[in-house]
Amino acid sequence: MVKPSAYSLSDAELAAFFRDAGQPAFRARQVSEALWSGRAESWGVVQTLPASLREKLAERFGALGDTAAVVGETGDKSSGTRKLLLKLSDGALVETVLIPARDRWTVCVSSQVGCACGCAFCASGLSGCERNLASGEIAAQAVRAALEIGRRPDNVVFMGSGEPFFNYDNVLAAARRMNAPPPFGLGIGARRITVSTCGVVPGIKRFSAEGLQLELSVSLHAPTDALRSRLMPVNDKWHVAELIEACRAHTAETGRIVTFEYTRVEGVNDSPAQSAALLALLRGFPCRVNLIALNPVPEFPGRAPSPGVCETFRRALERGGVNATMRLSKGRADEAACGQLRRRYLEGAGKGGV
Ligand code: SAH
Repeated sequence: MVKPSAYSLSDAELAAFFRDAGQPAFRARQVSEALWSGRAESWGVVQTLPASLREKLAERFGALGDTAAVVGETGDKSSGTRKLLLKLSDGALVETVLIPARDRWTVCVSSQVGCACGCAFCASGLSGCERNLASGEIAAQAVRAALEIGRRPDNVVFMGSGEPFFNYDNVLAAARRMNAPPPFGLGIGARRITVSTCGVVPGIKRFSAEGLQLELSVSLHAPTDALRSRLMPVNDKWHVAELIEACRAHTAETGRIVTFEYTRVEGVNDSPAQSAALLALLRGFPCRVNLIALNPVPEFPGRAPSPGVCETFRRALERGGVNATMRLSKGRADEAACGQLRRRYLEGAGKGGV
């Protein structure tokens, strides 16, 4: 049987474990400190605990090495982006990406093994969703990242594989953990944690009501239902108008600015007519649009537009009063797009180390 990860335990559950084991209450704090500082690669190395207790913990719960073991890595030398392939306790694989920008590090975490959404250009959804990640499996990715970069990450984005709002409770629990002050979490500011959704409207509504300072990012990619449904099947369930309405309500309720992700695909969603349609959709809504160049994947025939076309599109938005930034696709190396590293590994090409 696969042991649950210790990273998924609530403080109360950890306290109960030590109470039941006849141990003093301070043990829970010691274990939390070992977990969230990244020192608990295995229970055996947590020298602050007596050997008998380490054994008991090892019988019941996975440590960091069980929860998120590095089994592969690719990188992009020019940008410094590193993509880790992590193996979870049941052998499932997920990707975690470490992205440097000036003196900051952003960690991109996965929320599911694979993804059920099937967006046309995304490699994560090519073989469906295997399972949800437990909250600890999500939070442990940030702990692993901290160890790899040698310090606490500055930002976390839920933009790895999976749809966060199809695993709502575990995603929120993980975000709370990352936000919790040490020794009970990583102490990453809520405003530095971004949850990205493909447009799951009930999830957005729930998120708005949480009363948290977490950031919301919405993958829009097209301004009309016809085009968006072609790129993102999820649009058949929650249409563009309903989605934008939920985003407007989010800002009205929380005062927080929504970021729309817009991956540009040459000749598909980057025309002047489409920037005009996007403007019409977002007019009067204080939001941000993040323009991303398509990261080519073999399974999707599209290409990224030229820098000139990108800039024209961005300027059209700015002129219309919509705040638009252009994000260069980091990690342009092979297998850099979402889900590609895991896919290559599963297909066997990566055996013996990616
Ligand atoms: N399911 C969530 C989060 C994961 S994807 C969501 O859809 O928002 C994170 C972002 O990467 C999304 O905006 C997604 O559409 C985008 N993306 C996926 N594959 C891409 C590719 N090949 N090139 C550029 N962006 C891509």
